[in-house]
Amino acid sequence: QLTTGLESAWNKLRGVDVLTKENIAEPMRDIRRALLEADVSLPVVRRFIESVSEKAVGTDVIRGVRPDQQLVKVVNDELVQLMGGEVSDLVFAKSGPTIILLAGLQGVGKTTVCAKLAFYLKKMGKSCMLVAADVYRPAAIDQLTILGKKVGVPVYSEGTEAKPSQIAKNGLKEAKVNKADVIIVDTAGRLQVDKAMMNELKEVKKAVNPTEVLLVVDAMTGQEAAGLVSSFNDEIGITGAILTKLDGDSRGGAALSVKEVSGKPIKFVGQGERIEDLEPFYPDRMAQRILGMGDVLSFVEKAQEVMCQEDAEELQKKILSAKFNFNDFLKQTQMIAQMGSFSRLIGMIPGMNKVTPAQIREAEKNLKFMESVINVMTLEERERPELLAESRERRKRVAKDSGKTEQQVSQLVAQLFQMRAKMQKMMGAIQGKESPDMDE
Ligand code: GDP
Ligand code: MG
Repeated sequence: QLTTGLESAWNKLRGVDVLTKENIAEPMRDIRRALLEADVSLPVVRRFIESVSEKAVGTDVIRGVRPDQQLVKVVNDELVQLMGGEVSDLVFAKSGPTIILLAGLQGVGKTTVCAKLAFYLKKMGKSCMLVAADVYRPAAIDQLTILGKKVGVPVYSEGTEAKPSQIAKNGLKEAKVNKADVIIVDTAGRLQVDKAMMNELKEVKKAVNPTEVLLVVDAMTGQEAAGLVSSFNDEIGITGAILTKLDGDSRGGAALSVKEVSGKPIKFVGQGERIEDLEPFYPDRMAQRILGMGDVLSFVEKAQEVMCQEDAEELQKKILSAKFNFNDFLKQTQMIAQMGSFSRLIGMIPGMNKVTPAQIREAEKNLKFMESVINVMTLEERERPELLAESRERRKRVAKDSGKTEQQVSQLVAQLFQMRAKMQKMMGAIQGKESPDMDE
């Protein structure tokens, strides 16, 4: 796991105020080492480190987020980008059956993937057909036939005498007759990349003109995955990859290299031997899994989300100088009402109490009432609530114009001053406390 290797990187940033080229140099060396140990190929690591360093030094400081946490976030975001950013869905043919050709070395899980994909597509409501174009071992055809039965999809085969490209072509004809939505062509792999295998794949590809050519890669291949992916991509042209055996003792290296070396995304991952053990590849989930820093990331994201830097500073100034007025009151209440996430953020700051769902509901209820009262206040009254606190005449007028009782208006004014006091206490608490510790 990368996690342990990266820990020393974050630790080296303890106590620094801001990320600089100088103070990230050493942590970056740790990250580089950790990536290499996780079997990411060297050229990929080089480019990655370069890009992280550049972004880390250039990022704005987010209030309440420590520099080491900020670096975690940059590394995470770059990992996600490195793996393609978004989920890459399967491409379906516009007309006629969608043809998926599977390629890959022997034993990586191609035949298993055929069944898994068929199962996945069936759940999506697509009808599938499997084509047995691995003719070198009779057992391979039997294996696919058994798997097809298990999933409940037909398997097209012609025994071991026919040519794979011819089988694929005939399989496609059959699929058209049966009106199958998708055909998945299983092919033979070799222990190593060799010419005969590539030529055969090229022929099959030419024969059926597949919508998708997916390279099945064993996650445990590690940094060799990079070379493998580029040679398959150069030779036959792939549209994506499927990473299998992620449930095994994989260090994540293969996942990080595929997109960078081929420009083609990982579309699925296999995480076990059962037919249901296949799922779309989510770069963000993978990055989190690699970093093992989910807590820190969600903290940083929430901090970014809730408090845009200037806003927070502005608000803080107001609160500390006791100028918190009806406009801010309204804004704050709107914010709390809108955001359940606010309560999660508060919950992440040690020593702070969570805003409970009941409080949020209460805020939502108050908001309507408050808005109707504040709307009839003069601009001056909104800015300086003291005016209302000091003048009964003003409160009377506001009550009349908003259709509320004088008592309700008095209560609202009192509430604002209470909120002021509370906010001041809260800001004091935030300033006094540290954000959550990463090694908790
Ligand atoms: P092929 O030679 O590429 O067709 O590979 P197979 O589909 O025959 O799979 C080879 C072996 O790997 C079989 O024993 C599969 O059960 C196993 N296998 C395939 N995918 C996975 C996976 O995601 N996780 C695990 N643990 N085993 C897998
Ligand atoms: Mg096979």
